Amino acid sequence: MLLLPCPWCGPRNVSEFGYSGEVVTRPDPRSVTLTQWRAYLYLRDNRADWASERWFHRMGCRRYFTVRRHRLNHEVHPTPDDGAAPKGQP
Ligand SMILES: [Zn+2]
Repeated sequence: MLLLPCPWCGPRNVSEFGYSGEVVTRPDPRSVTLTQWRAYLYLRDNRADWASERWFHRMGCRRYFTVRRHRLNHEVHPTPDDGAAPKGQP
């Protein structure tokens, strides 16, 4: 069973979440080539190491957050996130 550390609700079963994808840097659409834009939309590294991923807590607080997950052993670590819970908020 994989537990994901929701910043607001604490560790929960992965079945409560929706996977939103790997975190990738969006290129500037005013200066990007079609090849670079296609790579941004469709190509991912899929390496056997750590990845930053966005998850949506669809059966809980209904918020997005980012975790670092190892693709082989599914070890998960929370990350500092701009959408993280403010101090003192449940
Ligand atoms: Zn939550």
